[in-house]
Amino acid sequence: MQNRRDFLKTLSLATVGAGVLSNGLLASCQQLPQTFHINSHGLGAKMKVRCFPYELQLRHVFTVATNSRTTTQGVQVEIEYDGVVGYGEASMPPYLQKELGTVESVMDFINTKMDLTRFSDPFQLEEILDYVDSLSPGDAAAKAAVDIALHDLVGKLMGQPWHRVWGLNKALTPSTTFTIGIDTPEVVRQKTRECAEQFNILKVKLGRDNDKEMIETIRSVTNLPIAVDANQGWTDRQYALDMIHWLKEQGIVMVEQPMPKERIDDLAWVTQHSPLPVYADESIQRLDDVIKMKGVFSGINIKLMKCTGMREGHKMAITARALGMDVMIGCMTETSCAISAAAQLSPLADFADLDGALLISNDRFKGMEVVNGKITLNDLPGIGITPITNY
Ligand SMILES: [Mg+2]
Repeated sequence: MQNRRDFLKTLSLATVGAGVLSNGLLASCQQLPQTFHINSHGLGAKMKVRCFPYELQLRHVFTVATNSRTTTQGVQVEIEYDGVVGYGEASMPPYLQKELGTVESVMDFINTKMDLTRFSDPFQLEEILDYVDSLSPGDAAAKAAVDIALHDLVGKLMGQPWHRVWGLNKALTPSTTFTIGIDTPEVVRQKTRECAEQFNILKVKLGRDNDKEMIETIRSVTNLPIAVDANQGWTDRQYALDMIHWLKEQGIVMVEQPMPKERIDDLAWVTQHSPLPVYADESIQRLDDVIKMKGVFSGINIKLMKCTGMREGHKMAITARALGMDVMIGCMTETSCAISAAAQLSPLADFADLDGALLISNDRFKGMEVVNGKITLNDLPGIGITPITNY
């Protein structure tokens, strides 16, 4: 027996998912009395938006080509509608603040620039998120936080997780890579031993002068597949190609951003001759970049913080597939909120790099879990998260 709330959820589900979901629901809905208004869920309600900053503690010092750090900043966004709360998150690593924004710019975007009270129906995701996107040329992380919160809210109003709304099979999620940080050989061997027991594929950041030593150190303790991210670090195209051939012999399975993003002709040449798939990261931000990078890369790395969230991330994945390109889902160092949002898309991906929440010691949500190395989605509605109150 359905109570009123469940009944309304079913109605809303049929409305938003008419093109996607089962016809059975729709048929049962069409038999309803004409006097019943489908938008009765929260009729007259307004969306209330809240946001606040927090600091995430990293379990280990995190080193990329340009810097090292022990904390990272984020902003939590909540959108409440008719007593239901959707959660979103903006994550801004220091080296990407120019592209993504800062805590201050995210707070300003949400509190000052944006006004969601002009919309009365949260299901109108396209119109609402077009408006949010139109408010400024940048602010990608702020837009992603709003997008994720709105998707979480709408999924909860429907009573469905987004992987189901998108028609994806959660059994088809990939394993996530786990990054082995650059360190002394002894530490790398120790970390690799620990990770080899929990993960099915590792990731290594290269693009320094000790690349071969790093791979050989890992290979001295495990034969697991390895994904390599050169982070634009190789500057000569023949050197990049020679490295990729050597990496293939070492059991590496893919290479991300081998050369600087400005070197489009050289990147296309490397991809054309490469024995491994070559993925774009720094070369890609949003949907229109996917089309521009066809022929330059064989795949794209989609990150919600860069592409403004789940709506555009989903479109990028579908577009890449239509163009014959491979798909990877990546992340920043962030909580299980943004990670679980990205994980909803992961059945569409060839590779997933969703280890961000595993790198922090004060996660704010329980959500997607890594079980035997594989991304494991739950059946909770929205993005599938529960707040942790005593983090
Ligand atoms: Mg990368």
